[in-house]
Amino acid sequence: MTSPGPLSPRLPSPLHEVRDARFERHGLRLLLKRDDLIHPLLIGNKWRKLVPNIAAARGRALVTFGGAYSNHLRATAAAGRLLGLPTTGVVRGHELAGRPLNPSLARCAADGMRLHFIDRSTYRRKSEPEVLAGILRAAGAEDAYVVPEGGSNTEAVRGCRALGTELRGRADVVAVACGTGGTLAGLAAGLAAGQRALGVPVLKGGFLEADVQALQERAFGARSGTWSLDDRFHCGGYARTTPELGAFAQDFEQRHGLAVERLYVAKLLFGLAALAEEDAFARGTTIAAVVTGRPFPDPA
Ligand SMILES: *Cc1c(COP(=O)(O)O)cnc(C)c1O
Repeated sequence: MTSPGPLSPRLPSPLHEVRDARFERHGLRLLLKRDDLIHPLLIGNKWRKLVPNIAAARGRALVTFGGAYSNHLRATAAAGRLLGLPTTGVVRGHELAGRPLNPSLARCAADGMRLHFIDRSTYRRKSEPEVLAGILRAAGAEDAYVVPEGGSNTEAVRGCRALGTELRGRADVVAVACGTGGTLAGLAAGLAAGQRALGVPVLKGGFLEADVQALQERAFGARSGTWSLDDRFHCGGYARTTPELGAFAQDFEQRHGLAVERLYVAKLLFGLAALAEEDAFARGTTIAAVVTGRPFPDPA
């Protein structure tokens, strides 16, 4: 795939080992797959998912969907600015309209994204064709290319397959935090036989198994690769946290000099440390954890 100049990526993303006693004492190696370094503004899986959609849009404006702190909305807005494409973000929460924008939405607006706020019940029904048509009409985005919430569609899932192929021969287990599951769906399909993918959902609900399978069926015609989910590490739901999770993330940052993104990456690493402690992995297993993002706003 050719990628437009300003979106030029650093690929394959770096892979390096971290020495961590919580893994080593169980005979495990921990590698970090630094997808957060692919592009300064389209971070991690957002680059892998968006660039194929931008290609499919062929210069049309983009419209997409997200919550008030959506990493996907920020990535889409940045891509629009870099490429000179108009973007519209449909934001969940009508009550946010007319209030000062939070830092994430302010960044979207500064990048030129038009923000259109809708109520939560309409937002939930946005995949129904008549509801979607009404939203696009109200947002003045009827002619725009629609990227679904979280960016996960067939193009995105196929784009994430390269994450798996980059890791062939490099690890036994590849673990990733999941929102919509699009990244896991592509990753698992790209791994070699004998490797497996492990998804750690950050939302509560237990719907992801069916969603990931459906994404794979649409993108590849069938369930692909070996993958599973461990639903125990969402800490109560999206953006929920616990003192234990916060302490873990802070400690990981100090030990390894990695700025740990709290909504997804912290839960992934916390889950992996818990699984290591449970001896869930055979001694000698090499685990690659995908660093899908970095904190916003930048702590530096
Ligand atoms: C969007 C995002 C994810 C979730 O990706 P899905 O493909 O929706 O599962 C994971 N980590 C980070 C940092 C993200 O921004």
